[in-house]
Amino acid sequence: MPYFRRSEANERGEDQYHGKLGPLTVSDGRSRYSLMDAFVEAGVEAGHPRNPDFNGEKQDGVGLYQLTQRNGMRCSAAVAFLHPALGRPNLKVVTDALATRILFDGPRASGVEIIRHGELQEIHAETEVILSAGAYNSPQLLLLSGIGPASDLAQLMIPVRVDLPVGEGLQDHPIVVMSWHSETEGLLSARSPANVERLQREGRGPLTSNASEAGGFFRTRSDLEAPDIQFHAAPANALIGEEALTRPTSHGVAFGPCVLKPTSRGKLSLRTADPGSKPRIFHNFFAAEEDRRSMIEGVRIGLDIAAQPALRAHIKGPNFVPHSPADTDVWDYVRRYAYTTYHPTSTCAIGPVVDSELKVHGVERLRVVDASVMPSVVRGNTNAPTIMIAETAADLIRSTRSPAPIAA
Ligand SMILES: Cc1cc2nc3c(=O)[nH]c(=O)nc-3n(C[C@H](O)[C@H](O)[C@H](O)COP(=O)(O)OP(=O)(O)OC[C@H]3O[C@@H](n4cnc5c(N)ncnc54)[C@H](O)[C@@H]3O)c2cc1C
Repeated sequence: MPYFRRSEANERGEDQYHGKLGPLTVSDGRSRYSLMDAFVEAGVEAGHPRNPDFNGEKQDGVGLYQLTQRNGMRCSAAVAFLHPALGRPNLKVVTDALATRILFDGPRASGVEIIRHGELQEIHAETEVILSAGAYNSPQLLLLSGIGPASDLAQLMIPVRVDLPVGEGLQDHPIVVMSWHSETEGLLSARSPANVERLQREGRGPLTSNASEAGGFFRTRSDLEAPDIQFHAAPANALIGEEALTRPTSHGVAFGPCVLKPTSRGKLSLRTADPGSKPRIFHNFFAAEEDRRSMIEGVRIGLDIAAQPALRAHIKGPNFVPHSPADTDVWDYVRRYAYTTYHPTSTCAIGPVVDSELKVHGVERLRVVDASVMPSVVRGNTNAPTIMIAETAADLIRSTRSPAPIAA
């Protein structure tokens, strides 16, 4: 069975594209703001197909997102996979610990060093080390352990174990959000005692909202083989504008494009050799002209949707929008307001850094299993694909459980 279907328990049931027996619950949203229905209707009025399932036969069109939720609460990887396994005798979870480097016995990874409550500790591996610290921190740990670009490591006086382009392929989905004021109720008033009670009693209502309740996938050019733009739409004004740093003060609606298959690549590197320092994240968004073109056309698709009757009925005026749909105004707006969709990938990519079994080149018994191994960012949200990678890795690890334990 394909790994996506194996993971999934979709409340709509099983079909060619979805599973129903997996640990990861997927459900329809349990918060339904009329502004989101208006967004979908406006998308249809603008000529885009209505799509009831972005993970089905076709990705194109507008619709409401399904969510990784169980009873209205987030069904995270921990809820779906880790919590049910906590009682296993061969599992020990250590929290409040920062991994600081990978330990080696000659060419073999033999464990990790952690710092916990101010104390350095070593955790030794019996067969192999699996690094799953995400697309920012897995490369950080490899670099701290001497696996990375030799010249960068030399600058920080970190002894080079293997010269690999760790951190160099960073990709993400650059997004820009526009927003409009409205008098129609949205998330601004969601935090009320009645809604808290509804959440607790029924697992339903506005407090189950994932904010980005609706969206869409679009091709900005007819010659593309698949969508190059995704929209996230929320019943909120400034909530996802300005990277959520501003508090919304009025109701509104916000949506905008992110570039799904950017060709620009950034880089994750160390600032210092201290594991407590944050790494340097250089996205290098929009370095490629085609990424800029997709984004500009994507903004115009958004302005067109906002101008349709279904949304015009709700919109009272602009909040954050470009001055005009002209290229220069749209590009000025993108340069000012674009940010990350928090979908970093590809910093320890299959090919340059790990092999097809996710083993790090040039060392033994060390795998990376997380979003960092994606050769390029996927055409959509990254959580489910990362879980698919983990499901694949679980099979790979089980099938190669033969190496002798590392000698004590
Ligand atoms: C705000 C936000 C919203 C998102 N929304 C969505 C969404 O709606 N849909 C979607 O599909 N995706 C979404 N994503 C992306 C999704 O969460 C990621 O793609 C996915 O979690 C990647 O999984 P991962 O295992 O690679 O990394 P992570 O989930 O980041 O897991 C890495 C883990 O390693 C731990 N860690 C890191 N360094 C160390 C260290 N040195 N020592 C100890 N532990 C360490 C971290 O604490 C973390 O628990 C969102 C991400 C963010 C940040």
